[in-house]
Amino acid sequence: MSKLHFGIRSIRGKLTLAAVTPLVVILILVSLAASYLISAWIVGETQKKVRNDLNAARAVLNHERDRVQDVVRFTAHSAGLVEALRRHDLPRMAAELDEIRKREHLDILNLTDRLGNIVIRSSKTASPQKPSEPLPFIARVLAGEDYAGTLLIGADDLLHEGYDLADRTQIVTSSLGEQAPERRGMFLVGATAVHDSAEVVLGCLYGGVLLNNNLDLVDRIKDLVYGRESFEGTGVGSATIFLEDLRVATTIRLKSGQRALGTRVSPEVAEAVLKQGRPWLARARVVDEWYLTAYEPIVNGEGKPIGALYVGLLEKPFVALKSKAFWILLGLLALGCALGGLMARVIARHLSRPVLELAATAEQVAAGEREVTLPVASQDEIGHLTETFNHMTTALKERDHELQSLNRELEQKVAERTAQLEEKSLELIKAQEELLRSEKLAAIGSLAAGVAHEINNPAAIIRGNVEILLMQLATDSDGREEAEEILKQTERVSRITQNMLAFAREQAIHPEQVRINKIIEEVLAQVRHHEPVENVKIDMSAWADLPPIVGDSERLRQVFTNIIVNALQAMDGQGTLSVACRLDSDTVEIRFGDTGPGIPEEIRTKIFNPFFTTKQRGTGLGLSVSYGIIKALKGSISVESPADGGTTFRIRLPVA
Ligand code: ADP
Repeated sequence: MSKLHFGIRSIRGKLTLAAVTPLVVILILVSLAASYLISAWIVGETQKKVRNDLNAARAVLNHERDRVQDVVRFTAHSAGLVEALRRHDLPRMAAELDEIRKREHLDILNLTDRLGNIVIRSSKTASPQKPSEPLPFIARVLAGEDYAGTLLIGADDLLHEGYDLADRTQIVTSSLGEQAPERRGMFLVGATAVHDSAEVVLGCLYGGVLLNNNLDLVDRIKDLVYGRESFEGTGVGSATIFLEDLRVATTIRLKSGQRALGTRVSPEVAEAVLKQGRPWLARARVVDEWYLTAYEPIVNGEGKPIGALYVGLLEKPFVALKSKAFWILLGLLALGCALGGLMARVIARHLSRPVLELAATAEQVAAGEREVTLPVASQDEIGHLTETFNHMTTALKERDHELQSLNRELEQKVAERTAQLEEKSLELIKAQEELLRSEKLAAIGSLAAGVAHEINNPAAIIRGNVEILLMQLATDSDGREEAEEILKQTERVSRITQNMLAFAREQAIHPEQVRINKIIEEVLAQVRHHEPVENVKIDMSAWADLPPIVGDSERLRQVFTNIIVNALQAMDGQGTLSVACRLDSDTVEIRFGDTGPGIPEEIRTKIFNPFFTTKQRGTGLGLSVSYGIIKALKGSISVESPADGGTTFRIRLPVA
C-alpha cells in the first residue's frame, strides 16, 4: 500500500483541490460583495442620516424663528400695547416691551410708527441717529403682511437697533491676514403689524434673535439631533451656523478646547452653498476629524443666501463599523475555508479509500491471488467499478480452472498416446526380432541339414562296423572297451545329426488331439531313467480337467523333455521342479519352474539361438528346436529369471 501515495496528484488531493478552490473563490467573492454592499449601505445610510440631521437642524432653527414670530404676534395683539400706542404712553410701553424681550430671550423687540420710524427700541441705543434706511421687511408689514425670516443687519444699523448688539455680534476672524472682525449680525426675525380696534395700522412690531455667538442655539441643535453621544471622547455630531462663510456659532471645538468661531468654510462649499444656493453633502475634514457633512444655505427675505447651516456626523464610528464588519467577514471566510477544506478532505478520503483498496486488490490479483472479493459499499460509480472488478476476478478464476482442467486432459492424452506408441514400438521391435530370428533359423537350418546329411552316412558306416567288431570281440578281450566308446560317441554323433535334421526339417506338424497332462507325466517318467532325480522334489499341479488341445504329441513331448532336462541339469540333482498348467480363456498355459541358479540377463536373449550353450557337452539346439515347434503350433514361449535365482519357462498354446 505504501507505494500508492501520490500527494497532490492523488485522487484525494485532486478532489480536495476541486472542492476547495471554488469554495474559496466563492467565499472571497461573497466577502468582497458583502464588504462592498456593507460599505455602500453604510455610505447610503450615513448620507441619509446626515440629510435627516440637516432637516432636523433646520427644523430647530425654524422653530426658533417661529417662536420669535409668535412672541411678536402675541405682544402686538396685547391690549396694553395697543392702548399705550393709542395714548402715546411710550415710556410705559418701552418698559413693558423690554420686560417681554428679556423674558422671551429675544435680542431685539422694537416698535415703529406707521411710517416705519422706530418709536420704541427695546434697549437703549448708544447711537440715537436715524438709520440709513428702515429694515427691508417693515414696509411689507405696515402694508399688512406678517414676516418671519433670517436677516443680515449691517454694523451701523446694529448700533441703531440696540446699544449692546454691536458688541455681542462681533466675531474675531481667525484666518491669517484678516484683521477686521465681523461686525454684521445675522438674526432670526419675526414681524407683525399693530392695529387699533378699528383695524387701523398703528405701526410695526418686530423681534429678533441674534445668531452670532448664539452657542445656546447650536448646542440645542446638536443635542436635539445627536444627543450627548460621543465616540472615543469626541461627540459624534456637530452643528454650525455660518454668516456667509464665517463660523459665527458652532459646537466644533479647536484643539485648545475653544469653539472654532471665526474660521471659514472651504471655498468649494462656499461656492456651492453661498453662491449657487444649493445644499452640499460630502465627506470633509473639519478641524482635526473627518466628518460626513451637510450644508444648506440660510436665505434672507429675498431668497438670497446670507449664511449656511451645517451638521456633521463623525466618520470614525462608521469606519470602525466598516472595519469590524470586514474583520467579521474575514473571520467567516477563514472559518468557511477551514470547514470547507476539512469537509472536502473527509469526503475525498471517503471517496478515495475504495479506489485505493481496489488498486491494492488488483495488485494481489496480478500476483496470482484469485480468492478475492471486494464488498460493494456504495451505489455510485465506485460501487459499479467494484462490482465490475469482482466480475473480472470471478471470470479470471473460472478461466484459470478451465485452463487447469484442459491442461490435465492434455497431459492425460499425451501420456495415453505415449503409452500407445511405446506399446506399438515394442510390438514392432518384437516383430522385427521374430523376423530376424526366423530368417536366421532358416539359414542355419539349411546349413545344418547339409552338414547332418554329410555326417550321417559316414557315422552310420562307423556305427555298423563297430557293431560288427563288438560282435566279434570277446567280452573281456582287449580293445572291447575302446570299441564300446567308439559306438557311444558314434551314437552321440547320430543324435546330434538327428537333432540338426529335426531342426532343419522345419518341424513338420501332425495335428491331433493331445492331453498335456498325460504327455508331461510320460516325459517325467522317461526322464527319471537318465537324470538323477532322487533329491529333486517334483511339484505337479497340472490341472486335472484341462481340456485337450490340438497339437502334435510327439513334438510337444520333445519340447517338454528339453525344458525339464534343462531344469534338472540346472538344479544339479537338488531342488524343486514345479509344473503347472491352467486354462486362460482360449489358451492353455504351462509353466516349468526350477530352483536352479537362473539365467544371467546378458545371455537370456541368446538361449533360443541355435547352437548357443553354456554346457560342456551341450548342443545348444534344445531350446531353439522347442521354439520352432511352439511357433509352428501358433503358441508362444518365454522365460523369466529373477536376479535371486530360479528360472520359469512359460508356454502358451491355443485350445483349438
Ligand atoms: P543345451 O541344453 O544343449 O545347452 P539348450 O538349447 O537346451 O541347449 O539350452 C541352451 C542353454 O540355455 C543352456 O546351455 C543353458 O545355459 C540354458 N538353460 C536352458 N534351460 C535352463 C535352466 N532351466 N536353467 C539354467 N539354464 C538353462
